Amino acid sequence: MFDYHVHTSFSSDCDIEMSKMIDSALDKGFSEIAITDHIDYDYPDSHFDFSLDFKGYQQSLEDYYKAYRNKIRVVKGLEIGIQKHIIKECQNTIMDYPYDFVICSLHGAQKKDLHNGDFFKDKKIQEAYLDYYTYMYHCLKMFKSYNVVGHLNLIDRYRKYMNGPIEYSVYSDLIEDILKMIITDGKGIEINTSSFRYNMEVLSPTMEMLQHYKELSGEIITLGSDAHTPDYVGYKFDYIYDLLKNMGFKYITTFKNMIPEFVRI
Ligand SMILES: [Zn+2]
Ligand SMILES: [Zn+2]
Repeated sequence: MFDYHVHTSFSSDCDIEMSKMIDSALDKGFSEIAITDHIDYDYPDSHFDFSLDFKGYQQSLEDYYKAYRNKIRVVKGLEIGIQKHIIKECQNTIMDYPYDFVICSLHGAQKKDLHNGDFFKDKKIQEAYLDYYTYMYHCLKMFKSYNVVGHLNLIDRYRKYMNGPIEYSVYSDLIEDILKMIITDGKGIEINTSSFRYNMEVLSPTMEMLQHYKELSGEIITLGSDAHTPDYVGYKFDYIYDLLKNMGFKYITTFKNMIPEFVRI
């Protein structure tokens, strides 16, 4: 088993030491854990600072990689929050250090934060979905320095800011364009099991999106808990493995030096 999305005290929204997260994966019998702390330049909500002490972070990744090398593989990762106006900065960041694995996430769009609800102000639900995925499409057109798109349907986590139901068909064309681009670029998606922690009504990405990805012959999938505490490392992974198998997916993906390796489920 491989947990490919975990935070540590290098993320400003987490205060758990890296060793504790690694130990938790080790205790659960995992063979790899990807540490993917946050860097979000110019985060739209100025109350939050998602900057990263790169020097300390990279040193810790090296140290723990070495210290645990006979027990569990520590994958040197990063979760980078992209926005249209900071693409260059994000590209440079990835070039700065030999990461094994990079998650590309959109925590905001149109210079507005999803988490605090700013993005949803004065938007009907359809408009919010179309705007979010259009913005994602344009970002992914410019930014290629990543391996998987994180929590593709993050917008679903914030349903509380929107009224009414929405059909997948309203925005599925956009998802098709996004997924096609991801596949053509040799990138992938992650399944983010924090959807269970947040009590979301859908998976992340949704079943419809996973089905869509399958139909388009998408193969690169990583599995991540997005844990910010040790107890959630590897959360609900058995359930997802069964689901993927039943859907006909054959592999789960791991990464070394940003190169995918396919492991049979
Ligand atoms: Zn994220
Ligand atoms: Zn995360």
